[in-house]
Amino acid sequence: MSNRCATRAEGKFMAMLTGLTFGGTTWTPKFVEEIDQEKCIGCGRCFKICGHNVLVLKAMNEEGEFVEDEDDDEIEKKVMTIAHQENCIGCEACARICSKNCYTHSALNN
Ligand code: SF4
Ligand code: SF4
Repeated sequence: MSNRCATRAEGKFMAMLTGLTFGGTTWTPKFVEEIDQEKCIGCGRCFKICGHNVLVLKAMNEEGEFVEDEDDDEIEKKVMTIAHQENCIGCEACARICSKNCYTHSALNN
């Protein structure tokens, strides 16, 4: 169950998406916004914990560009990327498991 409640921010009223726990306590989902690819070591822990098909591990070359063909191109490192942000439920499990503090999340305001 979810609802939108009005909160006051910077002098304006903003609608914020909130949900309820099983016990009826309000909580605010924080959706994945960004992964810091400079800090990411490609360990894949966040990928394993996310059950919503949001994340994809991608290869990068020396120039920091994504490699399309991993068999042909030189790979410098692999980093996690947000492939399907629309599937995120805002649980923040990925941020909690990441030891490199790569994640930025934010609540949905509109
Ligand atoms: S917040 Fe939850 S659903 Fe969204 S990417 Fe992270 S683990 Fe997946
Ligand atoms: S857990 Fe952190 S360091 Fe590991 S792949 Fe995910 S974002 Fe990168």
